[in-house]
Amino acid sequence: MSDCVFCKMVQGEIKPTVLAETDRVLAFRDINPQAPTHVLVIPKQHLASLNDLSSQHADLIGELYQVAQRVAAQEGIAERGYRTVINCGLEGGQEVHHLHLHVLGGRQMRWPPG
Ligand code: AMP
Ligand code: ZN
Repeated sequence: MSDCVFCKMVQGEIKPTVLAETDRVLAFRDINPQAPTHVLVIPKQHLASLNDLSSQHADLIGELYQVAQRVAAQEGIAERGYRTVINCGLEGGQEVHHLHLHVLGGRQMRWPPG
């Protein structure tokens, strides 16, 4: 996807602060952090949203969460706790249409989310 900001990161055209990387997944700091730790974990493959996942992506979504877990440990928030969020679509608050998992921590999270 030539106009997708996260695809540009995967291709090296935009250089985020990368915290973890595998063959299929990239994790980097959110540019507008909503918590002391705010990391995005994305598949390198362009998938627009959670709605585009199918059974063929089962390993990939598992890997996204494994990388999230690793990043939380690296950031020192694993034991205190943290939140993972996938916003999907308009009412879900999704602004970047390349599937991404938010990892938020370092402060007390509230519920319900806004
Ligand atoms: P969402 O609203 O779930 O689509 O989240 C999109 C996230 O991408 C927001 O938290 C943005 O701050 C973040 N974001 C957008 N552009 C960049 C960028 N160039 N580098 C890092 N994070 C970004
Ligand atoms: Zn993309």
